[in-house]
Amino acid sequence: MALTPLSDALERILSDVEATLDYDTVALEAASGRYCAATINATLSVPPADNSAMDGYAVASHNVPGTLAISQRVPAGHAPLPLEAGTAARIFTGAEIPAGADTVILQEDAEAGEGQVSLPAAQPGQHIRRQGNDIQPGDELVAAGQRLTPQDIGLLASVGLDAVPVFQSLSVAVLTTGDELREPGSGDLDPGQIFNSNRFTLAAQIRALGMTVIDCGNLPDDPDQIGEALERAAAEADCIVSAGGVSVGEEDHVKSQIEQRGALDLWKLAIKPGKPLAFGHVAGTPIFGLPGNPVSAFITFALVAKPWLIKRQGGRLVPTLRFPVRAAFSITRPGTREEFLRVCLAGSGEALRATLTGSQSSGVMTSLSEADGVAVIAPGTTVAEGDWVEVMLLSTL
Ligand code: AMP
Ligand code: MG
Repeated sequence: MALTPLSDALERILSDVEATLDYDTVALEAASGRYCAATINATLSVPPADNSAMDGYAVASHNVPGTLAISQRVPAGHAPLPLEAGTAARIFTGAEIPAGADTVILQEDAEAGEGQVSLPAAQPGQHIRRQGNDIQPGDELVAAGQRLTPQDIGLLASVGLDAVPVFQSLSVAVLTTGDELREPGSGDLDPGQIFNSNRFTLAAQIRALGMTVIDCGNLPDDPDQIGEALERAAAEADCIVSAGGVSVGEEDHVKSQIEQRGALDLWKLAIKPGKPLAFGHVAGTPIFGLPGNPVSAFITFALVAKPWLIKRQGGRLVPTLRFPVRAAFSITRPGTREEFLRVCLAGSGEALRATLTGSQSSGVMTSLSEADGVAVIAPGTTVAEGDWVEVMLLSTL
């Protein structure tokens, strides 16, 4: 089987994903991390009126320099009276500018006396935050499909909204396969066993996308049990993510069970780590059959399943940020697959360096856990120390 470039696989997988239309309107308090279901425009101005950026005196600029009577005191939250001609208003940060004043003079630059104040000359408009300077009615605040951040939530609150429509979270079933796998907490390992890590990594990756995990546990390498579990998962979930059992070995039953109970595309992706990847459906529910090696499972989830899930969730797909960093390593034998090397970053600016975190074997989790990002190396590339390589941060994967 020929190797499929990642970009080709992604194009195929993403071409016919339909975004969910189901949404709920939720309180802002519950909306962080959810995918906004509609574009939201402002209906009012922020600030709603001109207000002072400083503590000081609001005056008409043509009256200064000079000594002016203090005709009113305007703390934040209290409506001012129109400014009496030829006077100053004592004003505080966030307080509305009285009609008739066009500038604010810092209290540090003023000499206050009994009921009056001496003020220097001032530019019109200084230290005034203009009405609508941040937001004007009609401005787009968040777009449909945007994943709401804490700062977006604050932005929505700033125009007086207390609820927002968000897409209903996808339910994603996670199942792992392998006779050798033992659940953490279930006692000591017997000979031949290892602990199941993928179930935890994948569930955490799914939850980090704001989606709900349906934990289907681990299945032994038995075709019927795997097939039945896949059908149960298909009945409940919007998508299934499995790990293991998609290579060409005799004990790799996930692939054949997807084929029997639905339809399957199997790729050998031209990426390292992460070669075998199954995509298809079981009883109409899409499934990603990821490789079992822990780093391969993590990387293929991040690079392939995640974009699909975000698109299905109604989210906006934005290309993962890549930026150039100088390599503190070399590659003398070029690979045939696009490689994602685990690196940590140190230094800044031109001195920023990407250092390999250790063994790049697809079973080694320590070098993934230690990494800040992955350096993306195109097939056929050699790298000398000091060459520029492109890095993607794991926090964005
Ligand atoms: P497989 O894709 O099932 O052939 O598995 C490839 C390698 O990954 C084998 O060494 C498995 O033991 C290991 N592996 C598979 N699934 C898991 C898992 N859930 N947690 C940890 N290692 C796994
Ligand atoms: Mg296996």
